[in-house]
Amino acid sequence: MMRVAIVGASGRMGRMLVRAVHENDNAKLVVATERPNSSLLETDAGELAGIGALGVCLSSGLQEKYAMQIDAIIDFTAPQASLRHAAFAAKHGIAFVLGTTGFDENAMRQLRTLCVNIPTVMAANYSVGVNLSLALAQQAAAILDDDYDIEIHEAHHRFKVDAPSGTALALGKAVADGREVDLDEHLVPARHGITGARKTGDIGFSVTRAGDIVGEHTVLFAGMGERIEIKHIATDRMCFARGAVRAALWLQSQPAQWYGMHEVLAQE
Ligand code: NAD
Repeated sequence: MMRVAIVGASGRMGRMLVRAVHENDNAKLVVATERPNSSLLETDAGELAGIGALGVCLSSGLQEKYAMQIDAIIDFTAPQASLRHAAFAAKHGIAFVLGTTGFDENAMRQLRTLCVNIPTVMAANYSVGVNLSLALAQQAAAILDDDYDIEIHEAHHRFKVDAPSGTALALGKAVADGREVDLDEHLVPARHGITGARKTGDIGFSVTRAGDIVGEHTVLFAGMGERIEIKHIATDRMCFARGAVRAALWLQSQPAQWYGMHEVLAQE
């Protein structure tokens, strides 16, 4: 039985993760945390997740006394908090599943250094469908030459703080890899004003923030006379949460290394 800590357990994803761990016969929630100034500290994590009391109350951050009780930490919080959680996981040799997005280059470097001695999965998106879309987008970009313009659109709820989404950027990387080019050299963020004509080879991004949209991503390949779209729509955050629990279980038998979700899905 894998013993799991969920950090940020009262967040939108945190609550889903509590449910996903609870419904999995091979996993057990042992620790649930929130930020130190949260008004929900000491509330039962199961009550918050809407599945009834589990006897695990939200504690203020990850405390040293928990280290021996935890096999995996699942973290969908915020970049600065995730760096602290990664340091805790590394110090105590605990498997780390990271879903937080919005890291800058410097924070990414710190993360990779911190996690060098623990098994870690980081994915911008834990849904099986998105991971399939990444593979399809890369394949399509490899087949369709740059006579096909590539545009990536994503839509999320009004509370999301980073843009474009980590998944949109991962799709951008997938099509750039398919074309064997560097995404940074071709990425065009949202356009505005007199932009001039589209440059051949541009990979354009556009973003919608509205209401309660869980997450939608479209990769458009538009040629002269035809268009192809690879589209993924998440209608329930449980698809991310179940994927993260799957990754945590998979990590239990993996050596210390940095993995992506494609490796979890490929090796099962
Ligand atoms: P949210 O704001 O609802 O939840 C984040 C939670 O983390 C909050 O409850 C916050 O209080 C808590 N938190 C912040 N600092 C903390 C700390 N030091 N200790 C403990 N808890 C702390 O946000 P959300 O919608 O749940 O998304 C969280 C992150 O997950 C975002 O970066 C989002 O982009 C990402 N996300 C990733 C995937 C994926 O599949 N990889 C899917 C959905 C969301």
